[in-house]
Amino acid sequence: MTTSALSSGTSHHGLAAHEVVLLLETDPHRGLTGAQASERLARFGPNTLPAAKGTGLFVRILSQFHHPLIYVLLAAGAVTAGLGEYVDSAVILGVVLINAIVGFIQESKAEAALEGLRSMVRTHATVIRDGHERTVLSDDLVPGDLVLLEAGDKVPADLRLTRLAELRVNESALTGESVPVTKDEVVLPEAIPVADRQNMAYSGTLVTTGSGAGIVVATGAETELGEIHRLVGAAETLATPLTRKLAGFSKILTVGILALAAVTFGVGLLRGQDAVETFTAAIALAVGAIPEGLPAAVTITLAIGVARMARRRAVIRRLPAVETLGSTTVICSDKTGTLTENQMTVRAVWTPSGRFEVTGSGYALDGTVRDTRGAPAVPDSHSALRWSLLAGAACNDAALTEQDGRSDVIGDPTEGAMLVVAAKAGLRKGHVDTLLPRTATIPFSSERQYMVTLHRDTTGRHAGGHVILAKGAVERVLDLCGAQLYADGTVRPLDTDVVLRTAGDLASQGLRVLATAMGPAAGADEFAEDTLPGSLILTGLQAMLDPPRAAATAAVTACHTAGISVKMITGDHAATATAIADQVGLLDGHKPGQGIVLTGTDLAALPAEEFPDAVNRAAVFARVSPEQKLRLVEALQSRGHVVAMTGDGVNDAPALRQAGIGVAMGASGTEVAKDAADMVLTDDNFATIEAAVEEGRGVFDNLTKFIIWTLPTNIGEGLVILAAIMAGAALPILPTQILWINMTTAVALGLMLAFEPKEAGIMTRPPRDPDQPLLTRALMARILLVSTLLVAGSWWLFEWERTHGASLTEARTAAMNLFVVVEAFYLFSCRSLTRSAWRIGLFTNRWIILGVTVQAIGQLAITYLPAMNTVFGTAPIGGDAWLRILAIAVAASLVVAVDKRLRRPA
Ligand code: ATP
Repeated sequence: MTTSALSSGTSHHGLAAHEVVLLLETDPHRGLTGAQASERLARFGPNTLPAAKGTGLFVRILSQFHHPLIYVLLAAGAVTAGLGEYVDSAVILGVVLINAIVGFIQESKAEAALEGLRSMVRTHATVIRDGHERTVLSDDLVPGDLVLLEAGDKVPADLRLTRLAELRVNESALTGESVPVTKDEVVLPEAIPVADRQNMAYSGTLVTTGSGAGIVVATGAETELGEIHRLVGAAETLATPLTRKLAGFSKILTVGILALAAVTFGVGLLRGQDAVETFTAAIALAVGAIPEGLPAAVTITLAIGVARMARRRAVIRRLPAVETLGSTTVICSDKTGTLTENQMTVRAVWTPSGRFEVTGSGYALDGTVRDTRGAPAVPDSHSALRWSLLAGAACNDAALTEQDGRSDVIGDPTEGAMLVVAAKAGLRKGHVDTLLPRTATIPFSSERQYMVTLHRDTTGRHAGGHVILAKGAVERVLDLCGAQLYADGTVRPLDTDVVLRTAGDLASQGLRVLATAMGPAAGADEFAEDTLPGSLILTGLQAMLDPPRAAATAAVTACHTAGISVKMITGDHAATATAIADQVGLLDGHKPGQGIVLTGTDLAALPAEEFPDAVNRAAVFARVSPEQKLRLVEALQSRGHVVAMTGDGVNDAPALRQAGIGVAMGASGTEVAKDAADMVLTDDNFATIEAAVEEGRGVFDNLTKFIIWTLPTNIGEGLVILAAIMAGAALPILPTQILWINMTTAVALGLMLAFEPKEAGIMTRPPRDPDQPLLTRALMARILLVSTLLVAGSWWLFEWERTHGASLTEARTAAMNLFVVVEAFYLFSCRSLTRSAWRIGLFTNRWIILGVTVQAIGQLAITYLPAMNTVFGTAPIGGDAWLRILAIAVAASLVVAVDKRLRRPA
């Protein structure tokens, strides 16, 4: 096959199906051979959309140096080299290089981890290869593959359709048009827009009804979706609170450090000190004050957070989302399948001639339909019941399977439940389909809220004729009806009030209620949707139970305790939604009354200026169309909320993108929704969102811990140098020693905080205000306190050693070791932001113990190994010096512990 067969210039819709078969060298019945498929996969690459911005290796390495703090270090290295201080210069540049390598490795690892996670939510496609039907990862599709499509599938690549049966495809992902398009095999003129290419099915669109087959003509980036993806991918993504804050923090820090270094240099010169020496000191100051480990710590902490969330079934698709989760203030959740099990069981069937109860649970067929006296219902002698069950089973795209005596549903659970209840009354789907062969369909959609089908009627009543069957949301189906059916087959005018009241009663018990209807049809082809209203006969209502998920109630309560409000957004009836909301505790804390439950109609009627507050107040949004979700997110955001929003349909994508955290359903969600989301729940469970929020808070805590641990060292080092220059004294620590401290402790000690388990009570405090500064006053005060202790301690020690006979080199070695030992002690305190080191237990994070051991070995090496003594300007020190170091570190720890105790919130 030539590559030109796939060039975008080739308009496959302008060719007959057999020409496409020839062009792509495939077989219209047997598909490609396995060998052809692998050869093509190697040639054309996987059928995946490329990352929005593919960055090359070189750029990625280079980007490690693109950091204001690193620029300062590079400049310092260059100037020291210029001054002939080659050892210092080499150490500085070495540190920059190590930093870049560590950063690069960490970033690649984090990316690989994310990529691995993405593979957890891959989709599959059905193809024919070597004449056999098989399921493959849609990533493995290649041009020429023969793909089978059926209702509910996502089209996995761009296809030229070769065979189809009532195939209708929702192309809104591509064209924005949510009404499904009917497909046709006809050869089309070349110059027609994508939206009109009936003989093509495009990647990312959804099959709503029917089935078909097509030949893959484009995969991955070459598809029409790939084109859109490129455009969307280029759109600006909002920075998350953390990245914004860190960028601001780095800027202020760098400017501050440079200013301080310049002042130091100026003061030194004014005092008549040697220019080169003063300059070296100023560089020491800059180098010491820069927290080199910070960027790496952020990436690693986030990556660890991602791994923890994946373990709890929340797959993060964008790294910064980990942290946004921690400041989430509102979770907007779907009802069906997220807060509930999505395991529907019809419990009651109501007809104008009476009500029936249904026994049994789940999809098991062992249950009965009984009248109010407990006698088994006989559909043959009850026309309304019979036609309600027939409508439910025939106007239905789901299927029942039986394996090892257990029945299960393939397809939509709502439809599955209607198949089960019909079967319990003796009307099996297979039998129903032979009684009423379907000839046309108006598929269900969330916008339409009903499904209507046209059937040839072989049942006798309309034998030889045709019958229309419908099922859907009660209000919608009622719009289509003008009459209602009774047990004896009589038809009388519709009593809307009674039907609505009955539906309302059933819904307020948390049952999902669907209405069924039927009507005579003039002929097989007469099926215009606009002629339906008022023409059908209501046959009954079917009320089904979808139990709340066991974990949902606890998760909702946990969210409330954590200051996060939970709102339900559903397409279901307000009464059903409210009852379920109540069952999972979502209404707790809300005063019953107006405004807690809003319907799509209410929302549409709200004046724009009242909209945000009304949305903010409400807890349940019922009968909401996917389009309204975007407005809801925007309204909440305008009230300062960080919104997590769930979605599964194609039309949910804009809302998912707009939300701070777009959450897609891994099991039931469309690929388009997953693509737009920041996080995918592999179990579709609400409780998983709560778990992810908890992990997000933990990540933020651990980052804060790293920052409050690392900054005092940096400030302390800077101040010691500053003081030395101001006093015209010798430097207590050398620039190279400062680099040693910063680099080794960041990796061996600080990074271990990323492994810190979550603090108890992490979900009992309110969400972080995204506008709140990174460090609170109390934490700033602690940083300053520790910095002061470090400066005072090291200065005193340095002076003491000097005045008690130690050489300058030995005194510096003692001061350098003091910094590290105090840092190691302080590390234990930083493991909790509020609780004391004793309370968390000294040995509860074994990574920290490991880190401290490694660091201790490092300190012994730099103090006692002659080679290291030469490079770092150190010298061996005696045991008494170590004792003084330990004494100072213990004293400092006690001061920090007291400060922590005093500042702890009551
Ligand atoms: P959620 O948004 O919480 O997932 P939902 O599943 O109820 O709620 P939709 O799937 O949009 O939302 O359904 C809206 C309404 O349409 C339902 O309340 C029901 O009355 C009706 N409905 C659902 N599924 C079908 C179907 N397969 N055929 C006909 N009507 C349906």
